[in-house]
Amino acid sequence: MAKNNCAICGAEVGLISGQKLADGNYICRKVCSAKTLKEFNKVEAYLGDVTAHIEQVEMGTRIWNELLLPLKKSKNKEEKLKMMGIGGPLLYASASTGLVALVETRYKFLVFGKSEHVCVYRIADLIQYDYEVETKTNSEGKQEQTHFCVMAFKETAGLYTFRLKVSGKKEYESIAKYFDTLFGIQKTLGNAVNNAKRQLDAFKTAFNTVKAAADGTLDETQAAAAVETLDASVYGDRTQWIAKADAALAPYKQ
Ligand SMILES: [Zn+2]
Repeated sequence: MAKNNCAICGAEVGLISGQKLADGNYICRKVCSAKTLKEFNKVEAYLGDVTAHIEQVEMGTRIWNELLLPLKKSKNKEEKLKMMGIGGPLLYASASTGLVALVETRYKFLVFGKSEHVCVYRIADLIQYDYEVETKTNSEGKQEQTHFCVMAFKETAGLYTFRLKVSGKKEYESIAKYFDTLFGIQKTLGNAVNNAKRQLDAFKTAFNTVKAAADGTLDETQAAAAVETLDASVYGDRTQWIAKADAALAPYKQ
């Protein structure tokens, strides 16, 4: 096989030392690929996705060390981080800063040390937290279940979606409740009817807008309003979470 070069650092890579990306570029495993989280799918990524993700991890790790890690040890209940997940990267939610951090811990066997690689997100950008269960048959022929919380963040470059491994459906439900509460989304039985009606109204407005677009009678203001109604109904109110995160991240913006 012909030798290739890492598209980021230029190092020469071969079959084993190189990772091929979706766009045909190669990156070196030793330095550049090691800067990405394991959750980041390089086989499906373009070079631009990889470089955006590496920047995301560099910034996220810095924010984690400077801002969030000190809060992890905080005695103040308001500032404490909520840990989520099991046996892989863990998610830490920081309600006081409006941020969440996906933390991958790597242990260095020879020096008995560890390092953390982190992606930090605005809680306000969390648009999906769904339950997923995977059933596999193990070597003894028994069915084994793995539970996940599938999370996705809007307007995020790099790693914008991942599956957080959780201990079971119960942990997933506690995570969903945590974010539902932050966003003021009511999913209790008593509110279900009300909520369903609100959602139905929102969908009706959205539907009429789509119809108006097809008829060529679409009013831009009406369209924007429809999207907002739909957002508020499905995603709750994010205003204070945007403000908190922006204040926390202000020192990190150039
Ligand atoms: Zn490289």
